[in-house]
Amino acid sequence: MNYTADSVWTDCLSFIKDNIKPQAYKTWFEPIKPVKLSGEALTIQVPSKFFYEWLEEHYIKLLRVALVRQLGNDAKLIYDVKMENNYSSNRPQIVKIPSSNRDPLKPQKGTVTLESDKREIRNPFIIPGLQKVKIESQLNPSYNFANFVEGDSNRLARSAGMAVSNKPGGTSFNPLLIYGGVGLGKTHLVHAIGVKIKDKYPDKTVLYISSDKFSQQYIDSVRSNTRNDFIHFYQMIDVLIIDDVQFFSGKSGTQDVFFHIFNHLHQNGKQVILSSDKAPVDMQDIEQRLLSRFKWGLSAELQAPDYETRLTILKNRLYRDGVEMPDEIITYIAKNIKSNVRELEGVIISMIAQASFNRKEFSLDLAKQIVDKFVKNTKKEVSVDFIQKEVSKYFDMDVATLQSKTRKRNIVQARQLAMYFAKRLTKTSLASIGNQIGQRDHATVLHACKTVDNLTETDKQFKKYVDDLMKKLTF
Ligand code: ADP
Ligand code: MG
Repeated sequence: MNYTADSVWTDCLSFIKDNIKPQAYKTWFEPIKPVKLSGEALTIQVPSKFFYEWLEEHYIKLLRVALVRQLGNDAKLIYDVKMENNYSSNRPQIVKIPSSNRDPLKPQKGTVTLESDKREIRNPFIIPGLQKVKIESQLNPSYNFANFVEGDSNRLARSAGMAVSNKPGGTSFNPLLIYGGVGLGKTHLVHAIGVKIKDKYPDKTVLYISSDKFSQQYIDSVRSNTRNDFIHFYQMIDVLIIDDVQFFSGKSGTQDVFFHIFNHLHQNGKQVILSSDKAPVDMQDIEQRLLSRFKWGLSAELQAPDYETRLTILKNRLYRDGVEMPDEIITYIAKNIKSNVRELEGVIISMIAQASFNRKEFSLDLAKQIVDKFVKNTKKEVSVDFIQKEVSKYFDMDVATLQSKTRKRNIVQARQLAMYFAKRLTKTSLASIGNQIGQRDHATVLHACKTVDNLTETDKQFKKYVDDLMKKLTF
């Protein structure tokens, strides 16, 4: 009998399905994709870290039993976390769950190891001939206009997006810059634009990419001496969508190359769509000439949705999931989660999960508990203090050493990293950051940020520090 990842997983699923409620099965198991079977180790892809944690917490026993039935006592489960496009998730995280001969009824927490990016977007440079090649658009079809709820908070951005989709490159909205806070739908909207364009103009080359990935590709191209190929590749695109351009901040090489690509595309009537967490006027460490380009087209803001819009978003979501929930509860959630659509969805997901897992009915009480948890969690902000502690811990030194006047290279670097993260992750002023991290002045902090940016672009080991720390500080 020849086992494959698919066949093993299909058998596991049928066992799992028999043992949990249909709603829980739909929520937590249908989205999983089997990716690889190697020996007794099955790799499954899960949509997010939250998802993985949920499985670990609630279904690990069931998963283990299902797997052992298929693969025997040495069965291993490896999670491949399909991350969202944000800074700290450059690479997928592989989480290994040794299932082993330990007491199968006693779940063991998995150990986390990081592996380098194996699923990068198809390397543009191995494509010969440059013309008429098929480029994967990297779009997510489930982010579309049909399920992007319209409201006062997004009307301008949404209709500008529509206009651009109908006539890419042919409106004055070029570039179209969508900006707004976390979880307000920027990524969703820019995908929707791309999806619609692909639909209407299948021959157009559309490419979605996060600014981080773009940056990384650029750096790689410099390393491997293929900078020109990189530029040529991007110049062939008809509709270029770059998400979260605020992360270009401080990266002069990337900004420079993007400037050239942008000019070429713009001059040739190609469409550029960007998203950012702030308006161009508020962007920092982005070159003036680039900022002025950003302002050529239209900058449209996504604001926090009003109550009516939140209500509609919730109802649509529930309808799509085939879940019925009493009105009283829906209005409670819509009233209390105000500033972030992602959280709105998070509450719904938790509700469904809790209710199906604990075999409870949806109740207002349950809604209150969950909303409370969300509201509390988001108030937690990283502080300069927390950053100093984490950075010191990471480099195995104490905070006093990190703050000391020494010029030892490793200590200076740790201090500079602490300053860099304080600048990046908190709203604290440069002066105050300097003050808190060993009584330095604002110029020192600024210098530290520049140094870290430079080193990140040139020094692999150093970049790893930055990535590791970013993960520690933001998860
Ligand atoms: P951002 O990129 O601004 O951080 P996302 O685009 O990732 O935000 O949106 C967060 C979540 O909220 C996504 O699941 C998205 O589908 C959903 N969302 C945001 N705005 C809307 C909307 N107007 N209608 C429906 N869903 C929305
Ligand atoms: Mg986003």
